[in-house]
Amino acid sequence: VEHPIIVEALTSLFGHKPFIQKGGEELSFFCPKCHHYKRKLNVNVETGQWHCWVCDFRGKTFATLLNGVDAPSEFYAILKTKRRLSDLPPTPSEKLTLMEDFHPLWKRSSDVMHRLAINYCISRGLTPHEIIRYNIGYSNTGDFRNRIILPSYDAHGELNFFCGREFSTKYIPYRLCESTKNIIGFESMVNFKYQLTLVEGTFDAFTVKYNAIPLFGKTMSDKLKIKLILEKPPRVNVLLDSDAMGSSLAICDFLIQNNIETYLIILDGKDPNEIGHTRTWDIINQSEQITGLDLFKLKVLHKL
Ligand SMILES: [Zn+2]
Repeated sequence: VEHPIIVEALTSLFGHKPFIQKGGEELSFFCPKCHHYKRKLNVNVETGQWHCWVCDFRGKTFATLLNGVDAPSEFYAILKTKRRLSDLPPTPSEKLTLMEDFHPLWKRSSDVMHRLAINYCISRGLTPHEIIRYNIGYSNTGDFRNRIILPSYDAHGELNFFCGREFSTKYIPYRLCESTKNIIGFESMVNFKYQLTLVEGTFDAFTVKYNAIPLFGKTMSDKLKIKLILEKPPRVNVLLDSDAMGSSLAICDFLIQNNIETYLIILDGKDPNEIGHTRTWDIINQSEQITGLDLFKLKVLHKL
């Protein structure tokens, strides 16, 4: 199927799985108008054209379909996103893999780099539990040499991203893998039915521990946006570094517009990894939900 996101969105809209026709180009749903007992409403995922073969309920675009079935407003946002997604180059069919020289830290080793890498992880507050759970490792050669390798896996347990953190000096920033950033960080570890916390980097996510999504930057991927719209988590904490107020407010804006309870977490100049798990959660728990009006005031205050 060529447009998994459209299929996912329409499945959620109609509340049942479609038959997939014409190699993925057309989806057949039960018609919400005539309620025929077979799937007679066809939707073309390329063009948005739709048509019920029984009652002639029809239209030419996704927008008219959404109007026709009285869809909640968030589905319109997905279609807007769809246009941009279809402009992106297709995701390579090759699977992303870790470098050949990847050594997981949970494997015993006499390599001195292994010891240095473990020491670095401990200095950043990681325990053996996280080292095993997240399959953290290191590499000795190539672009990622002398780096802790932090892999991220998707909902099916497939590698979807990785980054490397230099561990001999703290002044060299992260190196990201060259794969698409249109992923959900640590997706395999996240349950969208519970409150989520969005953070910039992997070590911040380890500090938060529960249901934290590293953005590998300061903006949300389209994939994450769509997932949030479809899954509607009960609450999202936006916990970016304090130099990123503009990015934080843009994320809050998106969440509030999509009726997701939003908490802007402000740590006063430090990042979560610096202040630690307990203090970070104290601050999250003391934060108040922000509304569209709060957001407006913050934008004025920060001249954004
Ligand atoms: Zn019909």
